[in-house]
Amino acid sequence: MVTFQENEVKEAWEEILQDDYRLAIQEIADCYPDKRSIFIDYTDLDLYNTNFAMFLLENPDLCLNIGRSVINSLMPSGWDDKRKVNIRITNLPNDSLVDIRKLRENHLGKLVSVQGLAKKVSSVKPRLTYAKFTCSRCGAVIWEPQSGMYLREPLGCPNPNGSCNKGINRFIMDSKSCHYIDTQKIEIQESPEGLRGGQQPEKISCFVEDDLAGILTAGNRITLNAIVRPVEKSERDKSTIFEIYLDVLWIGFEQHEYDKLDITDEDEEEIKKASKDPLLFEHIVKSIAPTIYGMEEVKKAIALQLFGGCQKRMDDGTTIRGDTHILLIGDPGVAKSQILRYMSLLAPRAIFSSGKSASAAGLTAAAVKDDFGGDGYTLEAGALVLADKGLACIDELDKMSEQDTSSLHEAMESQKISVAKAGITATLQCRCSLLAAANPKYGRFDQESETLSSQINLPPALISRFDLIFVLTDNPDEKLDRKITQFILNVHQRGQALQYPNQETLDGVDLKAIRDNTSNIKPYFEQEFLRKYVAYSKRIVPIMKPEAAKMIENAYMEIRMSGSDKKTIPITARQLEAYVRLSEASAKMRLSHFVEEQDAQRAIELITHYLQKITGGDIDKFMNNTSSKQRKDQRLVMGIIESAGGSGIHVDELIRLCGEEGFTEGEVRKILKNMENSAQIYSPSSDHYKKV
Ligand code: ADP
Ligand code: MG
Repeated sequence: MVTFQENEVKEAWEEILQDDYRLAIQEIADCYPDKRSIFIDYTDLDLYNTNFAMFLLENPDLCLNIGRSVINSLMPSGWDDKRKVNIRITNLPNDSLVDIRKLRENHLGKLVSVQGLAKKVSSVKPRLTYAKFTCSRCGAVIWEPQSGMYLREPLGCPNPNGSCNKGINRFIMDSKSCHYIDTQKIEIQESPEGLRGGQQPEKISCFVEDDLAGILTAGNRITLNAIVRPVEKSERDKSTIFEIYLDVLWIGFEQHEYDKLDITDEDEEEIKKASKDPLLFEHIVKSIAPTIYGMEEVKKAIALQLFGGCQKRMDDGTTIRGDTHILLIGDPGVAKSQILRYMSLLAPRAIFSSGKSASAAGLTAAAVKDDFGGDGYTLEAGALVLADKGLACIDELDKMSEQDTSSLHEAMESQKISVAKAGITATLQCRCSLLAAANPKYGRFDQESETLSSQINLPPALISRFDLIFVLTDNPDEKLDRKITQFILNVHQRGQALQYPNQETLDGVDLKAIRDNTSNIKPYFEQEFLRKYVAYSKRIVPIMKPEAAKMIENAYMEIRMSGSDKKTIPITARQLEAYVRLSEASAKMRLSHFVEEQDAQRAIELITHYLQKITGGDIDKFMNNTSSKQRKDQRLVMGIIESAGGSGIHVDELIRLCGEEGFTEGEVRKILKNMENSAQIYSPSSDHYKKV
């Protein structure tokens, strides 16, 4: 590598700045302090002299210091040299891009480029840059530059006449006259799309200063050009092990959601070809979790979720969500988690998290006390914010915290999370699809005593925000069980045979035959191809044809009118939107610019299927856990219990009184059990019931 002497660096800057950045410097001179950064394109440095550009990457501190003094020298007269102009280098070359997990000792002091997600963002604080001290003996003024995290005091009084330095001296800081700079601490973590195979994302702290402070929010996807530095230690900490942090020079915001997937012309051709195949939908479904047997409907739904509907922006500025949310709720061991994990690897941008995650931010966001001195708060992004413009796979949703439950409503519908706590008010974006799994209230569906819907431990308002809900029960069924058993054994056999990729046989066992016989377990499309396909389809905003709209209208109205009596509402406008989103997704999957009848049909089939399975058609019963008939019965029984007063009513008396209203004993006992489970009544003494 070519090294440059200080005077050569100075010359280089003079030429570069005078040629291309004359106007920018003039602007700063005119507008200071509104403008106080000069953005220098790395390609300009490279064009001027490749060796110099490379030298700057290796020695940024030296070069930037000289650069700043050159800028000061180019300023018009009357410019105060104490003012600091920031040099922000943009457009670093691809080979200076370093993964967070690969930052090492050899990067210390160098200029690198790092990409990630802003996980935590602290409040902005002033940091001391120049401290003004006065000597307590003679009153001399001493300016002490401050570069690190710990205050540096003067070593002695510079007054040549005094004898201040003979004894112990004290210096008094005049904090009002000191110079400060805005500073903010952020923590970035690796983006999920860079992680394959379930790696844990690595994190790193960064400091952003001056005009960069305050422009980031948690959840932003960013590129940082920064100098890697060891964290300064306090005097007491004598360990030789250092942490590193990034001293940020420039922040670039992600322009396009699918930046990292480059789709070549050949890819495009292949995608278009695949889209014309009449079996396209089947092929895509076959590419989703092929090691899981059955669950056709779930896989179809997930396939559509991957493509998603279209977000719409209306004339009045409001937006309508385009992402679909799916809930899988079922007995343990029916491969719910397995599906979620698979999708978190397949989807172009996905976060896998659990409802009872350990992080303070949980699923949405939190303001947590920061570790950055003082009593500031840091905003921390949770799983849904980190999955912005992607897929959030949340397992064990029923175990989430109360705080999450309440903020999830807003997050799912308006795709924003507002945090107003401890002086922080912020709105974070979470434009993601949610694929969630949950277990029934008592761990397993009790098929006999209660309705399925009353065994779901989630608030009805939350449940109604899912476009599709699948109830997965695990019932012994000889034929199906045998099929699943054989299938799972086949999966394992194939897995074993795949460990010998180049071998036809092993001691007479035909490995190739095993591989061939189980080839249905291989995904139809490779993951990488499917990711590109999905990314490509996002360019399309299909228009719904009138025939398709009519079909949806009819299907919706038919279910809406099918309620057993006038008081039950089997379906609400939320589900109507689900029809639209799913049919749009189907059109996008075909790369079609129109939502046609086949797309509407696909959406109708899926929604009808799920409604049938969970409610037998009565969604009101499902959403509210009790049907309107049940509610009426409960009100009646409650009236009788209440009128008894005192220490409650004996069950025999209750059955007798209810009998007069036409209830059988069995019915009364069932109603009582449901009311007890939903904590409306309790037994103060045995066989007595009382209102809670
Ligand atoms: P859950 O999260 O629903 O409790 P898991 O996803 O942990 O269940 O699945 C338990 C195990 O059973 C997994 O190893 C999964 O592969 C297997 N399994 C369950 N159902 C199926 C199925 N239909 N096909 C293949 N494997 C299955
Ligand atoms: Mg599980």
